[in-house]
Amino acid sequence: MYAEILIEYPTKKIDKFFTYKIPLDLQNKIKRGMKVKVPFNNKIINGFVMQIISTYNSSYELKEIKEIVDEELVLNDELMNLGKFLQESTLCPLISAYQTMLPSSLKIKDQDTNYKFYKTYILPSKNVEDLQEYLKNYHKNNLQSKLLNDLIGNGKLLKKNYSNAVVKALKEKKLIKIIDEQEYRINKSKKNNINKHKLNEEQQLAFEKIYTNIKNSNIKTYLLEGVTGSGKTEVYLNLIAKTLEMGKTAIVLVPEITLTMQIVERFYEWFGSNVAIFHSALSNGEKYDEYLKIVRNEVSVVVGTRSAIFTPLKNIGLIIIDEEHSDTYKQDNMPRYNAIEIAKKRIEYHNATLVLGSATPTLEDRSRALKGVYEHIKLTKRAGMGLLPQVTIVDMLKEIKKKNFIYSEELIKKIKERLDNHEQIIILLNRRGYSTTINCSNCGYTYKCPHCDITLTYHKSTNNLRCHYCGYFQKKDEECPNCHEKALNYLGLGTEKAELELQKLFPEAKILRMDQDTTSKKGSHEKIIESFKNREYDILLGTQMISKGLDFPYVSLVGVINADSSLNIPDFRSNERTFALLYQASGRAGRSGLKGEVIIQTFNPDNFILNCVKNNDFDSFYNYEMNLRRMLKYPPYYYLVSLKVIASDYNLAMEHATKVGNYLRKNIDNSSIVLGPTTASLFKFNNNYRFQIVIKYRFDDLLTTALKNLDDIYINETKVNLEIDISPLHI
Ligand code: ADP
Ligand code: ZN
Repeated sequence: MYAEILIEYPTKKIDKFFTYKIPLDLQNKIKRGMKVKVPFNNKIINGFVMQIISTYNSSYELKEIKEIVDEELVLNDELMNLGKFLQESTLCPLISAYQTMLPSSLKIKDQDTNYKFYKTYILPSKNVEDLQEYLKNYHKNNLQSKLLNDLIGNGKLLKKNYSNAVVKALKEKKLIKIIDEQEYRINKSKKNNINKHKLNEEQQLAFEKIYTNIKNSNIKTYLLEGVTGSGKTEVYLNLIAKTLEMGKTAIVLVPEITLTMQIVERFYEWFGSNVAIFHSALSNGEKYDEYLKIVRNEVSVVVGTRSAIFTPLKNIGLIIIDEEHSDTYKQDNMPRYNAIEIAKKRIEYHNATLVLGSATPTLEDRSRALKGVYEHIKLTKRAGMGLLPQVTIVDMLKEIKKKNFIYSEELIKKIKERLDNHEQIIILLNRRGYSTTINCSNCGYTYKCPHCDITLTYHKSTNNLRCHYCGYFQKKDEECPNCHEKALNYLGLGTEKAELELQKLFPEAKILRMDQDTTSKKGSHEKIIESFKNREYDILLGTQMISKGLDFPYVSLVGVINADSSLNIPDFRSNERTFALLYQASGRAGRSGLKGEVIIQTFNPDNFILNCVKNNDFDSFYNYEMNLRRMLKYPPYYYLVSLKVIASDYNLAMEHATKVGNYLRKNIDNSSIVLGPTTASLFKFNNNYRFQIVIKYRFDDLLTTALKNLDDIYINETKVNLEIDISPLHI
């Protein structure tokens, strides 16, 4: 017997198949999808069994497979094929697809680690009567008889609770034996009296529609668009409970576990040890255990972040993707997959149902729902007692004249009111990304590309402002082209400064800061969220990370500082992301009985996007933004591909970027648009220069082949790197 092995080539991610002989002792064990160790160039490396073949003609002696890495962890047929889908749809090597699908504990390692976690137990090796007999006759040694008595009482004892000498003595007398048992590191049990809400009318309707579809094993995707606090989680929990009753399983994806621990706890409450969880903050051992639970069919619900979409649950009935608009569902590095696309593939295999849930779905998904590709279900009301908050926009231009640089009079007044009433406050500091953009601090003016409507990026070396989509550039002016003040600079306000000012204004207030600095330690997110929830603090001040999915019943005021700054990030999705951010942040206010209020501070009080947030008007935002996308040929009207040419030598990078651009212009459909090359938004990174080419297309039969050809050329290049991102989230 022979096996075709896809090997994990140690230095480059290149697909290589080699045939190995299966030694006799492994012939009954080896299966397709298993990870094995094989000799290769005088080393032992890992590989996947792609196929088992009975005969093979070779002029030379084939080497033998050395061992199986883990007999339990086998990629089943569904996942083997899913790997091929990943390879084709993201242009990644098959080997990195398979590596992505298994928990990191099974990736390439210099040393082998056994992740199974054992506990050592003492068991009796004679029956109870014999032990009692022994106790009667020879109970000279107190410690030994204590152990035996405990053993008679419990049947099984943890070895570490007893002294080694005592254990050894009893073992020698053949009264006890020692065994190792594998245990899971995470053990959760179901709660008995959980607070299950009776679904309201809208929730019930949504539930019934989706439930019926799961029961009928229809392949279908739903967009569950529910305002913040509409009780989507409650609908999910009820759907999963029913799915399990049918004997089927469910996967739930959440954007980031650390921020959504509140939701995960709800799943544990309902389903206890029937849940496996997956996220990057787990240790390798924990990941391994959770994966084993699935492989052994011991759990029916998986809750996790992006990569949990690859877990080998069988008989899937339902996949839920919560906060489906979140960027975290797309992987930034190879393989550049989107978990939503993988989910669609998996529901086809299982005849299952996919639910995409969000208060602010992406324009792509919302337009699919409106076209009927997905079924659109709306939850329009808050489920509990809370009403949607009242939003006020404050013009910071006027405030600056009054010397209120960070906090407006209005916001200060409202904070004071809340502090007096012992209610809580969230302050969101909206900070720009890493790109350097220029603003007028007097009137709020920003430079935009006349062709792409994208904020221009400032390049200090040349004193130029550039569009990193189409390459348009212009000089930076001395004074603002709009108000003619000499006030053009890069505004930037740090959370520390904002905290200091706030403390000065309210010396008695207890302020909690949450940003990159305060959350770098493992577990610090959870601690911050817990202590704020327990009302140990009055004000939570932080960056984007505080806007997501949190449910604090005593928060009645949300203040947003620099609301418009994220509108100026040079990306065509900036409007969409700003709308979602502010809408979600507003949604943190007034979630229980308290009346919620939101203050949005901005230099552009008339900005259309901000006013849509104010009016809680997703439809107007949607129509406005769709119109822009249509005119400027962005998704969902056009699809995108972004290519980055990267090299440490500027000229080399430039030269190859030009070549790639020319190649594409010659080899893809005339109707497709090739933009660039131009500088990427992150132009110089790790001492590498990065150029970007963007393709906009609608239908292009030639594109895939052209991209594949380019990829094949550059995979062997050592000095120049080509990154291809199909349907990128950021360009
Ligand atoms: P979403 O995920 O849509 O923002 P949640 O699922 O977090 O909303 O629910 C918001 C709040 O409403 C939670 O505190 C939840 O316990 C409560 N809730 C959900 N459904 C109901 C219901 N049918 N009746 C009363 N309260 C509900
Ligand atoms: Zn442009």
